[in-house]
Amino acid sequence: MFKKFKEIVEGWRNYIFEDPKVEEIAKKRAAACSICPHAVMGSWNQKMPDKTIQVIKGMKCSLCGCPLSAKCRSLDSECPILKWKAENA
Ligand code: SF4
Repeated sequence: MFKKFKEIVEGWRNYIFEDPKVEEIAKKRAAACSICPHAVMGSWNQKMPDKTIQVIKGMKCSLCGCPLSAKCRSLDSECPILKWKAENA
């Protein structure tokens, strides 16, 4: 539970405060998400307009419910079906 909370905070922090290294990783993850059937349009488009990674703009993962703009930027997060892994795993 605490791990999940930490991942969410990290994702939002990296979404707000852009870091080139994180963006590079997030773009690779987003490329996988953008062709995944579990990536669906969520209600995040207005709350979380992704200016740098357009392919996941407004989308969420239907398996975990997370907005992809934050999830892809959370280095400790991993894809529920392991299309991409946590950076520090
Ligand atoms: S996190 Fe994984 S399961 Fe979810 S949309 Fe991205 S690739 Fe698909």
